[in-house]
Amino acid sequence: MNILVTGGNGFIGSNFIDYLLMKEQSEFVTNIDMLTDVSSDWIDIKYLSDERYNRVNFNICDIDLKWECVGDQYDVCVHFAAESHVDRALEDTAPFIKTNIQGTLAVAQYCAKHDIKMIHISTDEVYGHFEEIDKGRFTIKDPLAPRNPYAASKAAAEIMLEAFAISDPTFQYQIVRPSNNYGPHQDMTKFVPKMINSIYQNKPFPMYGQGDFYREWTHVEDTCRAILEVIEDKCENGSKHNVSSNELFSNFEFFMMTTEMMRAIKPDVIGNIAFIKDPRGNCHDKVYSISNTVRIGYKNLANGMQKLVEEFFNSDNSQG
Ligand code: NAD
Repeated sequence: MNILVTGGNGFIGSNFIDYLLMKEQSEFVTNIDMLTDVSSDWIDIKYLSDERYNRVNFNICDIDLKWECVGDQYDVCVHFAAESHVDRALEDTAPFIKTNIQGTLAVAQYCAKHDIKMIHISTDEVYGHFEEIDKGRFTIKDPLAPRNPYAASKAAAEIMLEAFAISDPTFQYQIVRPSNNYGPHQDMTKFVPKMINSIYQNKPFPMYGQGDFYREWTHVEDTCRAILEVIEDKCENGSKHNVSSNELFSNFEFFMMTTEMMRAIKPDVIGNIAFIKDPRGNCHDKVYSISNTVRIGYKNLANGMQKLVEEFFNSDNSQG
C-alpha cells in the first residue's frame, strides 16, 4: 500500500509512519510536514536512506500548488497535520482556523482530484465533555458540541468534509476520533512528557485546578493500529470511528501513578505538584469518555507508562 501522511513529524504521525514501515511493510510513504516548533526529525533520521520513505516540506494549505513534490500514486492519505495545542488556541485562534479547517479542505480536494481515500484524524474533544464521571460515553451518534477553539476547529473540519463529500460524491473518506494519546516522541510541552520531566527533576508540576480533569489515555501504538484497521476495513464512506482504551484517570491519579513508577527506579523522586489557576476557566472540559469502535488492547495505561518511564531513564533526557 502507498500512503500519503500529513503531519508525519508530529507525535502521532511519526509513530504511525514508524509503525507502517517497521511492522506493516508499506510499499511507500510520503510525509508532508512544514516542521513547526512541536515537530521532531527522528522519523526522517531513522528512514533517511530508506527508499520507501520521502518527506516534503510545505504547508498543507498549499498542497495543490506543490503536487509535483507529492505525486498521486497513493491508495490512502492519513491526515494528522494540525495545530493541536489547546491552550495556544485560546491566545491566537487564527492558525487553528487556517490549518485545521482550510488545510483539511485543501487535503480533501487533493485526495478527491487524485482518487485517494482520506482518513481524517479528528479528536474526542469534538463531543464536548461530561461534567462528572460515570455519566456514560460519547458514541459516534452523539452530536458535535466542542467547548474550546481547538475542538471547534476540529469539529468544523469534520463538517467541512461532510459538506465537501456531498458536493463531490467521488470523494472517499473516514473520520477517526482518538482519545488522549501518550507514548514515545511526544513534544515536551504536552502533558505526559512534561509530567515525567518535572517528576524526574523534582520540580513542581503545574496542575490545573485540583487535578480533577478526567481523560481516557490510549497508547499511541494502539491508535496507529486502530487507524490501520479503519484503512483495511471496507467501511461505509464517511463513517466515523472512536478510538480509546476506555481507561479513565484524573490528572491527579495519573500523576501519582507515574510518581510511584519513577520512584521505584529513582528513590529520591518526590512528586511535587503546583496547583495553578486554570487558563481555560469554564471551557476546560471536565471528563472525556468515548465509546471505542475499533479493536484495541495492546497496552493498558500502567503497562504503557511503565515502558515509557523505563525508556525515559534509558534515554539522553535523564542524563542531563
Ligand atoms: P502534533 O502537534 O504533535 O503534530 C502535528 C504536526 O503537523 C507537526 O509536525 C506540524 O509541524 C505539522 N503541521 C502543523 N500545521 C501544518 C501545516 N499547515 N502544514 C504542514 N504540516 C503542519 O500533533 P499530534 O499530537 O501528533 O496530533 C496529530 C493529530 O491527531 C491532530 O490532528 C490532532 O488534532 C489529533 N489528536 C491528537 C491527540 C493527542 O493526544 N496527541 C488526541 C486526539 C486527536
